[in-house]
Amino acid sequence: MLALLQNIRVVLVNTSHPGNIGGAARAMKNMGLSQLVLVDPMDFPSGDAVARASGATDILDAAQVVGTLEEALVGCSLVFGTSARERRIPWPLLDPRECAAAVCEQVLQGSEVALVFGREYAGLTNEELQRCQFHVHIPTDPDFSSLNLAAAVQVLAYEVRMAWLVAQNKPTKIAKLEATAIQSSQPVTADELESFYAHLEQALIEIDFLDPAKPRHLMSRLRRLYGRSAISKLEMNILRGILTETVKAARGEHQGRGKTDV
Ligand code: SAH
Repeated sequence: MLALLQNIRVVLVNTSHPGNIGGAARAMKNMGLSQLVLVDPMDFPSGDAVARASGATDILDAAQVVGTLEEALVGCSLVFGTSARERRIPWPLLDPRECAAAVCEQVLQGSEVALVFGREYAGLTNEELQRCQFHVHIPTDPDFSSLNLAAAVQVLAYEVRMAWLVAQNKPTKIAKLEATAIQSSQPVTADELESFYAHLEQALIEIDFLDPAKPRHLMSRLRRLYGRSAISKLEMNILRGILTETVKAARGEHQGRGKTDV
């Protein structure tokens, strides 16, 4: 999964300050991105870039330097051009979050995408922007809309990482349980049943349903009930999952989390 982030290219066009290249490399590395492409940089390699990269020098060392935006985009199926101004030319416009969702969707399918950033003083030309299928604008105060180049890279890289983390957790708890247990709908073994009973007993004590000082016959009645059911491994995993979540809820460890998406 992590490897898929390497399908995201950060393209910096005609950057004038090498420090910004270093800052962008650092922002990328923080968020797990690694592919940096520099289109005709004014001053690179540079000590200022290394200094601002602050340890992300591997990204700088591996950076690809090319002469034109066209070369930088070879192999990319989707290109996002960033712009400090909201409507330079009428074009499909996304905010960084929408962009990140689209980026993740693409890379999860194995495609390569590019995030293109412009010059410090002039941004991207109209011609360059028209090479991008989507434009991305970070919703800033319109009276002061231009971020530092490396800061803009940081915002997009962060959103990509958040979208990627969400995508990673997509297989819901129940789906994960099924993935591991559905192949094995065999009945549980006696030892698995024993550890389930121990878990059940501990959970019932924890939620104050069972008083260990006065257990009566609760556990043996429950053993009889579950013993009749010919529980499969999958069903056992579900029951164990319910117990774990019940105990967590009783301990107040669920902080407003939504229900499992069954
Ligand atoms: N004077 C330029 C600003 C360029 S800032 C202009 O008006 O276009 C350098 C680069 O940082 C931009 O080309 C863009 O890639 C990125 N950037 C800065 N602010 C941004 C914003 N609010 N939204 C999206 N990208 C931004």
